[in-house]
Amino acid sequence: MTTATMPTPTFKPFQRQTAGDIPGFDSLSDEERFTIDVVARVLPFRTNNYVCEQLIDWSNVPNDPLFQLTFPQRDMLDPRDFDTIAALVRKGAGDDEIQAKAREVQLELNPHPSGQVQLNVPSLDGAPLAGMQHKYDGTVLFFASQGQTCHAYCTYCFRWPQFVQLDDLKFATREADNLTSYLRAHPEVTDVIFTGGDPMVMRTNVVRRYIEPLLDPEFERVTIRIGTKAPAYWPYRFTHDRDADDLLRLFEEVVGAGRHLAIMAHYTHPNELSTDASELAVRRIRETGAVIRSQSPVVQHVNDSSEAWADMIRHQIKLGIVPYYMFVERDTGAKRYFEIPLERALEIYNECWRGASGLGRTLRGPVMSATPGKVMVEDITEIKGETVFALRLLQGRNPDWSNRLFFAEYSPDVAWYDQLRPAFGEQEWFFQRELDGLVDELVDQVSNRSRLPLISTG
Ligand SMILES: *Cc1c(COP(=O)(O)O)cnc(C)c1O
Ligand code: SF4
Repeated sequence: MTTATMPTPTFKPFQRQTAGDIPGFDSLSDEERFTIDVVARVLPFRTNNYVCEQLIDWSNVPNDPLFQLTFPQRDMLDPRDFDTIAALVRKGAGDDEIQAKAREVQLELNPHPSGQVQLNVPSLDGAPLAGMQHKYDGTVLFFASQGQTCHAYCTYCFRWPQFVQLDDLKFATREADNLTSYLRAHPEVTDVIFTGGDPMVMRTNVVRRYIEPLLDPEFERVTIRIGTKAPAYWPYRFTHDRDADDLLRLFEEVVGAGRHLAIMAHYTHPNELSTDASELAVRRIRETGAVIRSQSPVVQHVNDSSEAWADMIRHQIKLGIVPYYMFVERDTGAKRYFEIPLERALEIYNECWRGASGLGRTLRGPVMSATPGKVMVEDITEIKGETVFALRLLQGRNPDWSNRLFFAEYSPDVAWYDQLRPAFGEQEWFFQRELDGLVDELVDQVSNRSRLPLISTG
């Protein structure tokens, strides 16, 4: 289908206050609506007409996977916290009072996991560069300040504190200049990842302001990645929006300048890949010469089945999308609602792998982005009579650790890195001492600087 034969879609956002206008919302009971209202005081809620009209099957609510991914659910909060907020809402408390309580609950939800928040903030001439993170030698993350929102607020997003306006958690910069200065000072950086929020919420002229300087021949070594949920949740960004064509032209320029442009698309469920609009978006992006790679956490209630993953991979291969990471839900926000044990994540990965075309086997996972680096669960196996998790450090904070295997005691309940213990009675991980040293060093550097915005993306 060409863009000309589709009706022109107008972006309509919905949030807590306007939830009553959501098409399909009247199929919910009063209690379900009240629950959404209560949970949304704590966890960010925002969705749009495309998600509600084309992705969610309201006859299957509350079990519909995209409803689960997008709408606040009661069990996302501790029952005690839910009851506290619910009581305030019920008695008609003022917004200020409710917000103050909600803020307390938010801060309990580990908004900066692993306490490693400040550790990845780079500096230039001794000054911290807010809005950037540099954890692995070759890769810099860049958070454009105008991209700190998103086309949807999946509550599992590990960047969720940015959306609830905890100002000192907000991590952004208006200065594309910082980025180019930093790249000049750091020739080891080969990849710049624009992330957020979602950089694709920015208008094209703003995106251009950030990306164009990188097309200068002096940055010829740099690959540009853009992390975004837009192909899944607002595909019209690439087809019908007023500046959609300009955006695609910009992509063409990046490719024309001899750069690899990678769109890191957050697809979480196969239904996101099967509408006409999403297929058209993929086709148009690919026509610019950009490569689309796909990454997603495996999450309970949404995609915790090998069928969902197999289906997702099949769709991706058909559309020319390259599967990249299967992440493990990280320890923040509504994790308790979405998390699954590592063992289950591995089963889903393995079953999906067995049925996948060889082209689908570029999917790596399950992967935890944790303090030492990207930790992949390779297998559960028996060594010297002990059942263990075989783990691989795909990316290490120290590059020398990368691709090394290590082993942890098996337990069926482990769901995150910090619950793992070294196998074979060993006292610590092979990287532990060096990691502690690196962390101490970074903490020293940080305490010598002015106060930093706090937020972690790993
Ligand atoms: C995952 C991640 C990257 C990118 O890693 P790749 O394996 O190169 O895709 C970069 N920085 C951080 C902090 C990450 O978590
Ligand atoms: S950035 Fe991605 S994961 Fe986070 S809320 Fe937006 S769509 Fe969800």
